[in-house]
Amino acid sequence: MLNDTIVAISTSLGEGGINIIRLSGNKAIEIANKIYKGKDLHLVKSHTIHYGHIIDPDGDVVVDEVLVTVMRSPKTYTTEDVIEINCHGGIFVTNKILEIALTQGARIAEPGEFTKRAFLNKRIDLTQAESVMDLINAKTEESLQVAINSLDGRVSKLIKSLREEVLTIIANIEVNIDYPEYDDAIVMSNEILKPKIKKIIKKINHILEEAKTGKILREGIKTVIVGRPNVGKSSLLNKMMREEKAIVTEVAGTTRDLIEGYVNIGGITLNLIDTAGIRETKDIVESIGVKRSKKVINDAELILLILNNNERLTNDDIQLLELTKNKKRIIIINKKDLPRNIEKEKLSDYIETSIINDADVSLIEKEIKELFELGDIKNKDLTYLSNSRHIAKLKNTRKSLIEALNSIEAEIPVDMIEIDVKEAWISLGEILGEEVGDSLLDELFSKFCLGK
Ligand code: GDP
Repeated sequence: MLNDTIVAISTSLGEGGINIIRLSGNKAIEIANKIYKGKDLHLVKSHTIHYGHIIDPDGDVVVDEVLVTVMRSPKTYTTEDVIEINCHGGIFVTNKILEIALTQGARIAEPGEFTKRAFLNKRIDLTQAESVMDLINAKTEESLQVAINSLDGRVSKLIKSLREEVLTIIANIEVNIDYPEYDDAIVMSNEILKPKIKKIIKKINHILEEAKTGKILREGIKTVIVGRPNVGKSSLLNKMMREEKAIVTEVAGTTRDLIEGYVNIGGITLNLIDTAGIRETKDIVESIGVKRSKKVINDAELILLILNNNERLTNDDIQLLELTKNKKRIIIINKKDLPRNIEKEKLSDYIETSIINDADVSLIEKEIKELFELGDIKNKDLTYLSNSRHIAKLKNTRKSLIEALNSIEAEIPVDMIEIDVKEAWISLGEILGEEVGDSLLDELFSKFCLGK
């Protein structure tokens, strides 16, 4: 299957200055040569770019004026021969060139197939391939940095070194199984294996702890703003959207149906849910009912609960306080510029602000960082395990190692302990993509965009 040559439009297909059609495979140069008038591409040096024209061999008509980049195996994105055709950025002409390449023997690439080839040809491991997609999806400077570090292989290194430590344990056990007379199995388990396994578990705990930050940077925090009518919910929303750094995007379609926009606060993406509750119904408790507000609150990872400094607490306020008490929440007493009527003594842990008068939302930003223990992310080395698949696998690894420890405690024969340690080794391998099946690969890469 890797023997065929794939082609796709690698730029997003709209009208623009330039579009790029990319070919990869052992016939890439041959196919390009058939549809290109200019130098003989078989004869040019690798990693060079050439001016010429694309012609439709069927009728010998010139289709476009192009620049063709020739990159020979193995130093390419896929490690195969790669051709990139820079054409004029029209939708029709780009599709026409794609079509001609197809008639000359290329096959249309599946989403993510170029990156998949880079993985299958062992140029990158799975964590790196996955970070390509994270890089494309990054919405903040910080999440971009996490993706770049992972692409650079830092996550792989972390996992590989854990895997080596697990391997040493397996080696220890093997030696003991092969030469049982040399050692007392129980003594060995206790004195050699136990501290080693404990050390690895400790490292994994640390990585998983840090991963929480990585996941937040990568995926953002599902946030809902709640409060009675007129407390200042829309004012806060508008303010966050107006912040210089804020990005607000319409989220198209169905995949994340609850999320209605993103704002970026100090490098953290808040995925806003149920903004309709703010805009249309005005009152989350009265108009949409307690049941619905419960659901929205349940779905959220962060609640911004706004109260009015100028008014006494009402039943609705109390109800909202009650509904959110077990969630990560920030209680915001708004309108501090107006006389105080709210019974502050009934509340704990709140911030006081005047949304319309404050210069920015840095008070809220600070509170969010404390709540999620993000600290000063700007000064951190942003090498995180941020991907849910990796986190799940690392948790499996830890589970297997804990089972191994329990077996040691129970003085179970050492070859039984080895089964658990091998499981740990396999889970770590799955993170790197060494032990994964075709169906997982297909699923992972299908999430990529076309031409990547
Ligand atoms: P929502 O119904 O909760 O979305 O509340 P709005 O954001 O629409 O605000 C209701 C009213 O309160 C508007 O007239 C705002 O201008 C006003 N408001 C919001 N924040 C403040 C504040 O900090 N101080 C004062 N005095 N008024 C505010």
